[in-house]
Amino acid sequence: MDNLIKGAIKFMQEDFKEHQELFMSLKNKQNPHTLFIGCADSRVIPNLITNTGPGELFVVRNIANIVPPYRVGNDYLATTSAIEYALSSLHIKNIIVCGHSNCGGCAALYNQEALKDAPNVKKWLMMLEPIKEDVLRFASNDLAMRSWLTEKLNIVNSLQNLLTYPGVQKALDEGKIELHAWYYIIETGEIYEYDFKAKIFVLIENKGKK
Ligand code: ZN
Repeated sequence: MDNLIKGAIKFMQEDFKEHQELFMSLKNKQNPHTLFIGCADSRVIPNLITNTGPGELFVVRNIANIVPPYRVGNDYLATTSAIEYALSSLHIKNIIVCGHSNCGGCAALYNQEALKDAPNVKKWLMMLEPIKEDVLRFASNDLAMRSWLTEKLNIVNSLQNLLTYPGVQKALDEGKIELHAWYYIIETGEIYEYDFKAKIFVLIENKGKK
């Protein structure tokens, strides 16, 4: 904890002062251009991997970067509420769903024992059961292939679920919003983007060269 306290002091005394004007300009209102939906994993740092600063990204993070289908529920729907707010009040221009390599949430789908003390996580991951069934048909024994497929199908599934949110399809048709699906590889720093036409993930720097 000492490191965190020292970090807070350094922020107040040094980092904040360096960007004081920016923070002052953001005092009364945020106007983020992008809704970033990522995994809660500590290794996925939205601002770092997009080279963005305060005020640019509206970030939603949960276990395994899952976008649930839209519904108005009686329970407390954190992810759905945040996405709904970004669309209805912030009028964001881009949505990025960013999955990542070696995702513990995706892996836990295949290890129910690991979730015996986490009933809410287990329930949350039930949204990925159809993906698990598909993956097991293709790669039941190949663990690397299983993770790779699950992580990527999950990203595409989240993207599809975004289309169930009010106004998303209309905004897409009118060219007011762009949807992007990314796959971030932790150990190489590479980011792949889903190509909707080719239905494959393409390294971002190579996009457009094909
Ligand atoms: Zn993850």
